[in-house]
Amino acid sequence: MSRAEVEGALAETRPWLEEQRRKQVPRLGLERLGVSESEARLGARELISALAEEEAARLGLGYRRIRIGDQRTLWGSCSSAGTLSFNWRLVLAPLEVLDYVVVHELCHLRVPNHSKSFWTLVEASRPGWRKQREWLRDRGPELLAFRAAE
Ligand SMILES: [Zn+2]
Repeated sequence: MSRAEVEGALAETRPWLEEQRRKQVPRLGLERLGVSESEARLGARELISALAEEEAARLGLGYRRIRIGDQRTLWGSCSSAGTLSFNWRLVLAPLEVLDYVVVHELCHLRVPNHSKSFWTLVEASRPGWRKQREWLRDRGPELLAFRAAE
């Protein structure tokens, strides 16, 4: 994927995302969000793929494919075969949070555990990662419990 294609994908997804985010004010307010799961999954796939492509190229890492899932307890995972899995609900989190989870899973391609060298790698890419992890800890449970409208 070229830089232009990444920007194109983001430009297409952005209005939808911005609309979803506007609906999250003042709290997440997810119970009022009339978002369909298929729409959200599509947005999640486009956005996560674009971010992962761009970041993998920057880090010099390769992954096999991206899976968008309906995990009840997980935001993302990375298999030894190189499949990155992400929870579709991430698309409803702030963009920096989604971005952090993508970078986190990409870093697992190089370091498959949460050792010090793993966090050093994350830190080098996203110095603000602690704030994003805090958001997931505080707001994550509400987002994980969210079920989309039909
Ligand atoms: Zn991890």
